[in-house]
Amino acid sequence: MNQRKRVFSGIQPSGRLHIGNYVGAMQNMISLQEEYECVYGIVDYHAMTVRFDPAKMQESIFDCAVDYIAAGIDPEKSILMIQSTVSEHTELAWILNTITPISWLLRVPTFKEKRQQNPDYANMGLLDYPVLMAADIMLYKAEVVPVGDDQLPHLELTREIVRRFNSLFRPTFPEPQAKLGPVSRILGLDGVNKMSKSLDNCIYLDDKREDIWRKLSTAVTDVRRKRRTDPGNPDECNIFTMHKAFSKPDDIAYCARECRTAGIGCLDCKKILLENMCCDLEQIQGRSEQLRNNREHVLHVLAQGRRRAKEIAARTMDEVYAELGIKVYH
Ligand code: SF4
Repeated sequence: MNQRKRVFSGIQPSGRLHIGNYVGAMQNMISLQEEYECVYGIVDYHAMTVRFDPAKMQESIFDCAVDYIAAGIDPEKSILMIQSTVSEHTELAWILNTITPISWLLRVPTFKEKRQQNPDYANMGLLDYPVLMAADIMLYKAEVVPVGDDQLPHLELTREIVRRFNSLFRPTFPEPQAKLGPVSRILGLDGVNKMSKSLDNCIYLDDKREDIWRKLSTAVTDVRRKRRTDPGNPDECNIFTMHKAFSKPDDIAYCARECRTAGIGCLDCKKILLENMCCDLEQIQGRSEQLRNNREHVLHVLAQGRRRAKEIAARTMDEVYAELGIKVYH
């Protein structure tokens, strides 16, 4: 019998991944595999709440699976599956809709933001997104959910929905706990904003060395270090945050010390980062290429993931049906 606590996390199939995704979410998900039974879902239903191109969806899902396996999600340890292939996600979401007050959804900050950003596309799915997210988590009775701090309100809503279900019916679901990722988040190359495709301030996981150097060489550092001879403060520098994510401990210590004493310039520091970053990214890129050339293997991983996820989902739904008195006659 599996005694490990279960983790659920959703992955949006939203195109090219950048190092902000890798450091903020993926590394956390990869490290959790050792301790927990992890279910990682490529959440294509969530991706439909904003405008999307159906012609590209299939490849985006495949690319997403490739990226995550290449980065280190191990299908032997974790379940990697596509949300829409496990229909219990939407089935449970509907049931949860019937116990979730509308007022809880209206106060979720991301709904307000997204509605403002896309006033002509404020669809019902966007409002209901947190209920589907609750269903994703509850279907697997996940006890731990890796999140960024911007996701905490969603998880709190899941916890409220769990409490409501457990009080209206028999206690069935655990209240999931947040597992926050690394504290220091990588910002965009502008050193101010979150790394984001729409702001064009990213280093992508599939960027080649020349592209990475072109981007790093002009990236913003500690703004108070105006001349080569000015000492800097690594704690105020996004390049140093990247060092902490990619570089060897000796290199991190060296750059911190030499920055503070103006022993090295920012370009020297960035060259050291370049070597460390390329070392990591080139390994991921090599594995991605192998996986793309072995499409059958990726599809097999997803089929296996679906089968394993379905087994858990079906057990949960049997309990839910029994509680609600539905699906009795069939
Ligand atoms: Fe940042 Fe490195 Fe320059 Fe210091 S030396 S300000 S850590 S880039």
